[in-house]
Amino acid sequence: MRDYSRLDATAFSRAMTSELHVVVVGAGALGNEVVKNLALIGVGRLLIVDRDRVEPSNLTRSVLFCVSDIDEHIARGTPKAELAASRVAALNADVDVHSHVGEVADLGMGILRQADLVFSCLDNEMARLELSWACTRLDKPLVDGGLGLINPSSGMVSVFPGVDGPCYACRKGGERRRSLLQELQGREDPCGLKERTQQRDAVIPTTPTMASMIGALQVEMGIRHVCSNAGAAASAGVSHRITLHPQVHLDTLRFERSPNCPLHDPESVIRDVCQRTDRSSEAWTAAQLLAETSDAGGFLSLDWPITARAMCRQCGHEWEPMVRRARFRKQVCPHCEGGDVAETEVLTGIDASSSWAERSLADLGLPLGHIHEVVLGSTADAPRRHVEVSGDLRARREAAAS
Ligand SMILES: [Zn+2]
Ligand SMILES: [Zn+2]
Repeated sequence: MRDYSRLDATAFSRAMTSELHVVVVGAGALGNEVVKNLALIGVGRLLIVDRDRVEPSNLTRSVLFCVSDIDEHIARGTPKAELAASRVAALNADVDVHSHVGEVADLGMGILRQADLVFSCLDNEMARLELSWACTRLDKPLVDGGLGLINPSSGMVSVFPGVDGPCYACRKGGERRRSLLQELQGREDPCGLKERTQQRDAVIPTTPTMASMIGALQVEMGIRHVCSNAGAAASAGVSHRITLHPQVHLDTLRFERSPNCPLHDPESVIRDVCQRTDRSSEAWTAAQLLAETSDAGGFLSLDWPITARAMCRQCGHEWEPMVRRARFRKQVCPHCEGGDVAETEVLTGIDASSSWAERSLADLGLPLGHIHEVVLGSTADAPRRHVEVSGDLRARREAAAS
């Protein structure tokens, strides 16, 4: 039995934390620190999301990945999210901890919908924007941490309060926002994008000291935000910027939603969710979803374009990648492994007459436990319905319990 008495008079009292359901996206240097603190204070439920596997370079900044057994995990290719979750279980058995190996966009919105608080511990701008957009639509407070803002001894924490507040894209300058949004919506020219993505994915030098400071600040601000009720209906975001070298400097700024940010369309906000506990993505087709959701004329609007068909210019091989367009751009031909591949069909929506409508939602490459958007009409302001494939979530819970 753990003794939480030293936390009782703090913002992290047991009454506050034991009921909290928290999602941490990213289990690198920052994510390790955030997860460690959440484990120590004993949040009720914790989901750790990361797509990568443990690597030797993680060790200098990752408190949860121990030297003693790391060779074994590197050899086995253990995902970071799974290893971090097993460490949480060892640190504090009171935390109901789970892991999800995948990208932000693979995380069904139904999974995020269950959270009270979301932490972004990502080093990739696109993934941070994807997560922020999902949190805005679901009205979830998001605490974003970033390292290496100006130099390796700097970082920033931002709280995005939810549906009434600003988002990650609101913080960006006009031009940067435009190109990020084009990329999010899959409209960007693929060639230019490949180059820029590679540049942006370049390794940012980070230190364990900054990771622990920024990670600690994220947890402090996030827990205070949800527990103080200050978060209710907050319309402003707040950022703390820290620099430790060459001068020690901390500044705080409040910011509003940018009037030019297009990610705040009221129709995209997910308020009323139709929960289909009787359906699973493996078996439910897009046509059935449409028939059971709209009387006629509706279509399934995809959150991001999906590359449905592709062709290799080198060997002529044709295939159905069924992946998000952003991910297709990193793919090679499955036949000859050449990189000169072209999209021949991209889907942004599916109506009942589409040849794709008879495919199951899983076969269409859509995440399990997702909340799908059905647009009832063809005008821009047509009403929408949000349908959660809740049967996937139940299957997930049952699998975790067994
Ligand atoms: Zn915005
Ligand atoms: Zn080929």
